[in-house]
Amino acid sequence: MTTPHGVVQTPAFMPVGTRGAVKAITGRDLDDLGAEIILGNTYHLYLKPGDGLIARCGGLHKFIGWDHPILTDSGGYQVFSLAAMRRIEEQGSEFRSHIDGSLHMLTPERAVDIQAQLGSDIAMVLDECIGTVPADPKGGSVRAAMERSVRWAERGRRRFIQLRDDPQSSPDVMVTNPGQAQFGIIQGGIELGLRAESVQRTVDIGFEAYAIGGLSVGEPVDLMYDVVSHTAPMLPDDRPRYLMGTGMPDDLIECVARGIDLFDCVLPTRNGRNGQLLTRRGPLVIKNARYAEDMSPPDPDCGCYTCRHFSRAYLRHLFVVGEMTAATLNSLHNLHFYLDTMRRIREAIVFGSFEKLRREFHQTFSRRPQN
Ligand SMILES: [Zn+2]
Repeated sequence: MTTPHGVVQTPAFMPVGTRGAVKAITGRDLDDLGAEIILGNTYHLYLKPGDGLIARCGGLHKFIGWDHPILTDSGGYQVFSLAAMRRIEEQGSEFRSHIDGSLHMLTPERAVDIQAQLGSDIAMVLDECIGTVPADPKGGSVRAAMERSVRWAERGRRRFIQLRDDPQSSPDVMVTNPGQAQFGIIQGGIELGLRAESVQRTVDIGFEAYAIGGLSVGEPVDLMYDVVSHTAPMLPDDRPRYLMGTGMPDDLIECVARGIDLFDCVLPTRNGRNGQLLTRRGPLVIKNARYAEDMSPPDPDCGCYTCRHFSRAYLRHLFVVGEMTAATLNSLHNLHFYLDTMRRIREAIVFGSFEKLRREFHQTFSRRPQN
């Protein structure tokens, strides 16, 4: 995948840099880990420090000192997660800031403008995300959200093309990355028919590439795999396909097998901060007393900085006393594991041994914490 800030080898995993930083991790760490692209959250950056400020500072890449590709989400997911603090209507979504309670309006056009000022390499269109369980048994609300997402996608695309082809028409928007691409998002919950319709109508609008949204929101994992199996092959095969917000390490392998090229997830960093190390054998809960004097590395098969230098005993100590370094070392390991898994997947695809890798992965990996 080629972007204004370089090439991304796919399938790829994007570490999440919510507020302009991958939590507890420096850009130098990300370089060392071989991360080729990161994700930024539009909702958070819009509220603080503000997209206008970031634009005046030269755009997000310059502001955060990261010269490689960045994808930004539309802000929609965070706004919809505010539940009681937001109101969705056709025009857009009105919400109260989680920081100071101030009132804001996110429309499909605003989501484009904010991301144009941030200057990410890939901008996401605003869509309406709803949970998996439909509010009415016939799934009418899932259809309504899918149809509204299509209408918002049309408006978002129109605004994106206007800014791209005629930036002078909007002097109040500073376009900081003229080569920005825009991805459309497929919705439709777990209703396969709605997914097919969403693909057709969204691809008709015409985006640089497409994402599958509205999954990993609490549905059983097999159902998620079914929706991906059904949806991914309908998307243009000459464009990257992005599965938003997924997932566990085995999800990466299973969804690559189903045709996915791009992933993002907070799991490696969030779980790292919570003291959970993800390894080829499964999660390792570092605070457990059994590791108090365990001088072996977290994962003997891992070549990351953390595993090469430190023991479970030391990492447990750091976590238990609340040292900030615990978050850094745990997150480094988890990100290495995710990025290294993607590297192994890419190699296996090139060498025609993906199915072998998939089998071997499942033989050792368990979602249950290891003993
Ligand atoms: Zn490691």
